[in-house]
Amino acid sequence: MRHLLSTADLAKDDAILLLDTSAQMAATQSREMKKLPTLRGRTVVNLFYEDSTRTRISFETAAKRLSADVINFSAKGSSVSKGESLKDTALTLHAMGADAVVVRHPASGAPHMLAHAGWLDAAVLNAGDGMHQHPTQALLDAFTIRRHLVGGGSDAGTEGTDLAGLRVAIVGDVLHSRVARSNVHLLHTLGAHVTLVAPPTLLPVGIETWPCEVSYHLDETIERTKPDAVMMLRVQRERMSGGAGGAFFPSAQEYSRKFGLGSQRLARLPGHSIIMHPGPMNRGLEISADAADHPRSVIVEQVANGIAVRMASLYLLLAGSDDAHDERTSL
Ligand code: ASP
Repeated sequence: MRHLLSTADLAKDDAILLLDTSAQMAATQSREMKKLPTLRGRTVVNLFYEDSTRTRISFETAAKRLSADVINFSAKGSSVSKGESLKDTALTLHAMGADAVVVRHPASGAPHMLAHAGWLDAAVLNAGDGMHQHPTQALLDAFTIRRHLVGGGSDAGTEGTDLAGLRVAIVGDVLHSRVARSNVHLLHTLGAHVTLVAPPTLLPVGIETWPCEVSYHLDETIERTKPDAVMMLRVQRERMSGGAGGAFFPSAQEYSRKFGLGSQRLARLPGHSIIMHPGPMNRGLEISADAADHPRSVIVEQVANGIAVRMASLYLLLAGSDDAHDERTSL
């Protein structure tokens, strides 16, 4: 195991190993003493070129719970051209002896470049690159889905299981969402059936090649697929010119009426279904306060599960790299 860059090329066995290891890590986090000595002496660098709250804190917490040394480097606002800046930074991190680099970057492909350009020999973990991928978010989503819909709220009996037969609706701003991309691939690999629901203006070109179904109608999708999990996506206004939704939808009210999750739609979901959102939420736009705070909402739990998933990812990439016989080149 070397890097964690994308869910599109993550083999099913590796995805299940990550989920099983996350379950083991989660079990250690309910103990009074949460810290494990596993990565003592290893250095993890958080390299964030884009805003983040949950993901950065989550990676930092995960690395610290494994006793690694953590360096936070926030590079937002750098005026150096992206390619140069990334290379120079990578060379610096190499000189500093980084064992793992967790990178968030507005340019799709930046983590891939860090991993493969030969500038450093650390493990690279993609913490979100542009509109491309966010693999640990998809893993924490799959972990949360498995725990609730396979394990009945716990990890008991989930080891080795996939998500075969489960139906997941991912709703909203798919166009700008690395969360949607990462989830479609991972959930498909794990055997779930995914329906993306969005207005045509918020779907990317080439969507027909993705391993999922596409719908423009949320009510019809709920009625027909009876989803076990509904994942609401944030409307990413900062990636829309004009900032307010621009040409992507006529008004916030109309978006909310057609694609938002509010109390009426909530009532039509199957009784066992779970409500998800990667955060940060636009309450009142893609999700109502009722839905966000509903007893079947697992949004806060997604955040907690993120720590276990990131501990598992760091552990498998760093502790796993000690095994010279491990022939896998990517996780
Ligand atoms: N926090 C997630 C991301 O960084 C989702 C979002 O921003 O809407 O992609």
